[in-house]
Amino acid sequence: MQNLLDLDRPAMVEWFRARGEKPFRAQQVLKWIHQQGVDDFAAMTNLSKPLRESLATAACIRGPQVVADQRSADGSRKWLFQLHDGNRIESVYIPEPERATLCISSQVGCALNCSFCSTAQQGFNRNLDTAEIIAQLWTANRLLAADGEPPVSNVVFMGMGEPLLNLDNVLRAVHLMQDDFAYALSKRRVTLSTAGVVPGLQRLARESDISLALSLHAPDDTLRDQLVPLNRKYRIAEVLQACKDYVGEGRRRVTIEYVMLAGVNDSDTQARALAKVLRQVPSKVNLIPFNPFPATRYRRSSAERIDRFRDILYGAGIVTITRKTRGDDIDAACGQLAGDFEDRTRRRQRLSIEVTGGAA
Ligand code: SAH
Repeated sequence: MQNLLDLDRPAMVEWFRARGEKPFRAQQVLKWIHQQGVDDFAAMTNLSKPLRESLATAACIRGPQVVADQRSADGSRKWLFQLHDGNRIESVYIPEPERATLCISSQVGCALNCSFCSTAQQGFNRNLDTAEIIAQLWTANRLLAADGEPPVSNVVFMGMGEPLLNLDNVLRAVHLMQDDFAYALSKRRVTLSTAGVVPGLQRLARESDISLALSLHAPDDTLRDQLVPLNRKYRIAEVLQACKDYVGEGRRRVTIEYVMLAGVNDSDTQARALAKVLRQVPSKVNLIPFNPFPATRYRRSSAERIDRFRDILYGAGIVTITRKTRGDDIDAACGQLAGDFEDRTRRRQRLSIEVTGGAA
């Protein structure tokens, strides 16, 4: 049975065509699913009754089960989703006066093993499929609508996983986010965050125009090798060049994410070194106060240190903001997403593939 959440518009058109139906049926159904949040063909009143009945025998519209729905004192909200195979992933909703951002996951766990990230502790299990990625947005909007709250206006791929290592499925989900018959989000409102997978960045540049964030976290390769092991494969200069190519002439700036770790990457010298490496790429910096998790060896930089670091970057002409910590009372802040799964055996396997370059 075909889950229609798995199909972007071209795939949906093809699916209807193969059933002998007109392409515009695909557009009608996309609107019912993604704009009205409908999961029942009987509710699709602009389709004939026989068509609704035949769809109900051949297809379904099924998102993951919501197994926890937690609200933070600051208004943010975290959903824990259970997938069909028992794996669990998390998404975080962050309302602000002018927008409502949903932070979504692209993989169950993550293979990159960044030393300051709690998702890394979980290891890697598998990629999410298109339906599992888009269903995070679909379900969020259904739950928000039920509460009379405004729908999601911005999506960031900053939850669990490395989106550029699951690019086929991420791109199909992005097509739906940007499709006028689905979520119609502009390129400014969809941001992909990456640890710097260079071939993925190059492909993204060819196939998408969404906003880009790079998790840099260190101004030099020696330190970045320790914080982001992927750096041993793709060095800072190469990653920044790929980001520069991505934003291109007249396009926007790349957001540089920099987690503030006390005594590790937060000195004045490192701020000046960061300003220097960023000269080569149109960028703005987001400083992220480190969010602790059990058994971490890191501590968050003090507020004074973060301000000082920001002032040095600012003085060098770089737009810099400190990301407000949201949802930390429910472990929903950056780097605190964990989800849950059983099989961790593939973690070592995947990491060695990524870092040694033996990927097929
Ligand atoms: N794999 C992608 C997207 C997921 S992480 C990437 O690396 O960009 C989203 C952001 O949260 C990244 O910038 C990541 O480095 C940051 N992050 C991870 N752990 C964190 C922690 N404990 N505290 C603060 N930020 C963290």
